[in-house]
Amino acid sequence: MPHRATKIVATLGPASSDPALLEQMIRAGVNVVRLNFSHGQAQDHIDRARLVREVAKRVGREVAIMADLQGPKIRVGKFAAGSVMLESGQKFVLDAARTELGDIDGVGLDYKALPREVKAGDVLLLNDGLIVITVDAVKGEAVHTTVKMGGELSNNKGINKQGGGLTAPALTAKDMDDIRTAMSFQADYVAVSFPKSASDMELARQLCNVAAAEYGHKPGLIAKIERAEAIPKLEEILRASDGIMVARGDLAVEVGNATVPALQKRMIKLAREHDKVVITATQMMESMITNPVPTRAEVSDVANAVLDGTDAVMLSAETATGKYPLETVQEMAKICLAAEGPGDFKLEADFTGKKFSRIDQSIAMGALFTAHHLGAKAIVAMTDSGSTALWMSRHLIQVPIYALTSKVATQRKMALYRNVQPLFIDTSADRDTALKEAENHLKTRGIVQKGDIYAITCGEPMGAPGGTNMLKICQVS
Ligand code: PGA
Ligand code: MN
Repeated sequence: MPHRATKIVATLGPASSDPALLEQMIRAGVNVVRLNFSHGQAQDHIDRARLVREVAKRVGREVAIMADLQGPKIRVGKFAAGSVMLESGQKFVLDAARTELGDIDGVGLDYKALPREVKAGDVLLLNDGLIVITVDAVKGEAVHTTVKMGGELSNNKGINKQGGGLTAPALTAKDMDDIRTAMSFQADYVAVSFPKSASDMELARQLCNVAAAEYGHKPGLIAKIERAEAIPKLEEILRASDGIMVARGDLAVEVGNATVPALQKRMIKLAREHDKVVITATQMMESMITNPVPTRAEVSDVANAVLDGTDAVMLSAETATGKYPLETVQEMAKICLAAEGPGDFKLEADFTGKKFSRIDQSIAMGALFTAHHLGAKAIVAMTDSGSTALWMSRHLIQVPIYALTSKVATQRKMALYRNVQPLFIDTSADRDTALKEAENHLKTRGIVQKGDIYAITCGEPMGAPGGTNMLKICQVS
């Protein structure tokens, strides 16, 4: 299979939980599986995680598991009839004190704080912005509104306030339970929904680390950028996270559709500059939920995210509940590969004004630079924590990075890094033996052959995190 640099995150759901199908999807290019904790019970996720590990083993490639927490999605309550059809111009009451089921005049609220966080004139968006209502008055626990754009409103649909400003804390009691569930199967990444600041991410990290301590595990934390308030705080959120998700679904509802594409480009650039990973998500191949081929616009959307430099592109309902989960992955892999193309990489520009004070980081950058200019076939990073591979992968070049590690957790985490192919190697041996083994690894996989040049980095003594201190340029004999 040709080397595809961009990674694919696929959400698991009823449409993709058959072992044979999942195996085909992973073979077709899924690198990270997302378990969506907004749906299903703890046991469903535990079962799916086990399935992913088993299937990945069969395929012979490590796949990362990302547990995506539901977060404080602000929702209406339930309706007696399951849903109502709201007409433009009608009045509608959102009442936190309402105990009976909803009807055409109003509905209860899952989110009890809403009446204290809105005022007359505010615009509320229901059901991902398909329904628009404006607040006329707040009377006690009841928010009186007028429907500006009607539509069908069903049980537990989400509420967003235009421009942001709802203060629900980023981690609910359910999220805390779900963190424990996710750590019981050592999820490689935890995605936090609706964080507003670095402290939301710091709290999530503490909870994850406490829950994972007994397994000696530390998950990577992904901040889903989907609140208006998160935008001015992007840098502090990035510093407190291992990566971000451009969560275009909720983000578009809060900041307006038209604002999202430029924000996406900014977020991808900023994440890379901060040595963090970035996932571009939501509606990337939406029409393939029901159609066997994507639209031209979807092809361009995926390709543009790749050209922007995203680490990964994500599939949600397309693979969770869609009719064509396998075909969607196949199409997406093709689009990524084509968009990566030969490229016009300006590596030098990345380094303008940059200084490196760490030995391991300097070695990583030296390897990158040398391999790029020599037209090497591969860069090989012998890595314990994965940071050498992460630093290298923050710069767009043509040369693929093979990250060899003896830690399975590191191998899985690196499944999300753009242009990094994680491979397992036993590095317990002395340096010369390990270097020889690394070359044999590349040869047997057909990555290099006689005469090819590759750059390799490692640390001496081997197997110490942060110990990379050596760069060797080799020609295969
Ligand atoms: P969700 O997050 O699918 O969990 O809502 C992604 C998004 O909002 O785009
Ligand atoms: Mn969301």
